[in-house]
Amino acid sequence: MTAIAANFATDYQDARQKFCAAAATCGGQFRSYRNPTLGPDGGRLFMDTVRFGEDDAPNMLVMMAATHGVEGFCGSGAMVNWLRAGGPAKLPKGTGALLIHGVNPHGFAWIRRVNEDNVDLNRNFVDHAKPYPKNDGYIELADALTPRRWDEASLAAAQKMLDSYAQKHGAFGQQGAITGGQYTHSNGIFFGGHKPTWSNRTIRAVIRTELGHARRVGCIDFHTGLGPFGHGELIGIGDPGLPAFARQKAWYGDELTSPEAGTSKSAVVVGVVLDAFPQEAPDAEFTGIAIEYGTYPVAEVLDAVRRDNWLHQRGDLNSAQGKEMKAYMQERFYPAGAKWAELVWARAEQVIGMAVRGLNR
Ligand SMILES: [Zn+2]
Repeated sequence: MTAIAANFATDYQDARQKFCAAAATCGGQFRSYRNPTLGPDGGRLFMDTVRFGEDDAPNMLVMMAATHGVEGFCGSGAMVNWLRAGGPAKLPKGTGALLIHGVNPHGFAWIRRVNEDNVDLNRNFVDHAKPYPKNDGYIELADALTPRRWDEASLAAAQKMLDSYAQKHGAFGQQGAITGGQYTHSNGIFFGGHKPTWSNRTIRAVIRTELGHARRVGCIDFHTGLGPFGHGELIGIGDPGLPAFARQKAWYGDELTSPEAGTSKSAVVVGVVLDAFPQEAPDAEFTGIAIEYGTYPVAEVLDAVRRDNWLHQRGDLNSAQGKEMKAYMQERFYPAGAKWAELVWARAEQVIGMAVRGLNR
């Protein structure tokens, strides 16, 4: 195990401990928000924030881990490496940092993308007073995605439905129908929820508390599961025609992709957590992106999500099958071994540098 890989955790509590210990040695100011649920080990779960720099620093670098629960191993490991490399002390004058660890601590601890309400946080930040986006493709595939039984006959029937949909709409069309978000099946996958979740309400409070003073906010939200192994795709947020997107391009360069423009491995999604920043800190110029690290082929990743959902809805977590499904899930979003972890940190270090330079342009 290399020093870099050793900063990546084995489970949620280990990640939290590593993060808090590293942040404490850098002299950060902590706040912790307790999630109402417990982890599989009975341990308490928190969204932890730590802040560096002057109280009134006009520029704020923000990093977020675990918007998608299990994907938090990646963001956590990157942040701990940044802290251990002395990142806070190297920030230019006038630039502070806010690290948000465990945005969705429940999913992090339970090795799930979703939260305690089976909600995908990056589909939950829509305006719940308005009609929800429609997703007819998901409705068509819902039974195939969450089959009643996980056996050969049931899976073969489900696969037939999935194949015929892919034939009609293409593989990426199918990915869009499955992952784009849906508001009709609360026991399904990529469900956006019917009200703001605990994480949604809590991160809004965090933004108001920590970023109200800021003039410029540059945010990196860490994700995993799409793209080539260890590659970190920089995904731009929002309409590519808007000034906010032009600023993202200016900071991160032409490799910045856009789901809306069809250049990303990600389908178009609405109601992402980054939307909360300009809403809750309206006086700051906000430049936020997601970094999406590849792991395994998308079919395997989606299969892992589907298995995990079936397991929590209809299976037995303590069975041999349940344990196998969990291990499969974790590996698809957090590949074991030092190689992937080192690729994650090398890329993160580069991208954090771009964000700091962007804030100080
Ligand atoms: Zn994600």
